[in-house]
Amino acid sequence: MSGLNERIQIPLPRPTELSAPHWQGCREGVLRVQRCQDCDEYVFVPQPICTSCQSEALDWVKASGRATLYSYTVVHRPQQPSFDVPYIPIIALMEEGWHMLSNLKESTIDEIQIGMSLEVFFEVMSAEISLPYFRPTRLLPSSS
Ligand SMILES: [Zn+2]
Repeated sequence: MSGLNERIQIPLPRPTELSAPHWQGCREGVLRVQRCQDCDEYVFVPQPICTSCQSEALDWVKASGRATLYSYTVVHRPQQPSFDVPYIPIIALMEEGWHMLSNLKESTIDEIQIGMSLEVFFEVMSAEISLPYFRPTRLLPSSS
């Protein structure tokens, strides 16, 4: 697995008992988020109780993976040399109304517009971790 010429890998998340269902979903190519059974709010990042009503009745549900760009920045000086620059940290506003911090990929900086349509995809980083990233939604030509 290791070699002198191999790139240093970026730091990876360490799933906890609380976040494990989210990371298991990412491994399976599914974006999972908690949803409150009592007030129907989505909760992310994973929490032991609902951040809106403090209910403990949280379910894991599948999110659509569709989002719009809520905010972004462009990083030219990484905190660690393992990150390729420039990279684009974003806040995605998910279709269901919750927010998620991620990175935008498969996009040029010139192309970025607040409100642009995005879709999640997953990059396999290790046996345990696949990271959820976003890319612009590429609409296929209409066939109608
Ligand atoms: Zn709630």
